Amino acid sequence: MARIFPSPHPLVAHKLSLLRDIDTEPKKFRELIREISALLAYEATSDLVLHRVDIPTPLSTAEGSVLSEKIGLVPILRAGLGMVEGIWNLMPSAEVWHIGLYRDEITLKPIAYYDKLPVEPTVSVCLLLDPMLATGGSAVAAVDILKRWGVRKIKFVGILAAPQGIENLQNHHPDIPIHIAGIDDTLNDHGYILPGLGDAGDRQFGTG
Ligand code: URA
Repeated sequence: MARIFPSPHPLVAHKLSLLRDIDTEPKKFRELIREISALLAYEATSDLVLHRVDIPTPLSTAEGSVLSEKIGLVPILRAGLGMVEGIWNLMPSAEVWHIGLYRDEITLKPIAYYDKLPVEPTVSVCLLLDPMLATGGSAVAAVDILKRWGVRKIKFVGILAAPQGIENLQNHHPDIPIHIAGIDDTLNDHGYILPGLGDAGDRQFGTG
């Protein structure tokens, strides 16, 4: 079963083009990351489970629905941070758990430096947030962490993916759906997505 969900939404395509542009400054870049993330999260959560409740209206009682699942937003530090706000506005009762991973510049392998998850899982569905699915090493490592934590339903939400990253994540975790704004051609020798948008962390935080 195909587990890749490139966004079909014209707004996402439009905003992604603005995001890629070298002339888009950090303030605008952060705004676009927020907006694209919210649109992707809307798509990624279309199968959330609901249960029925009675809602008292001013006139009578309506049959309503509320979310049954407790949602966790899990940004991979640091570039995933900018994806939280737009999604959190849509689901303000979500918990936010951070995972810190960086890529060793020589081996390109992920190194964990922050993971403060409690012993028992406190959420039943996690949106794993990282704008760039490049080699896929960080995503694989983060899903490993979330599965060890005991989360059964995990979805990867990112902005741009390279075919190599998709393949790596799918090979290690074929059960994880990938929601993405765009899929690019390849990676360069430094593990950057081509044509891509550059370093998503630096462009958000003005450190490039
Ligand atoms: N991380 C980034 O920020 N950009 C890439 O192209 C790849 C990984």
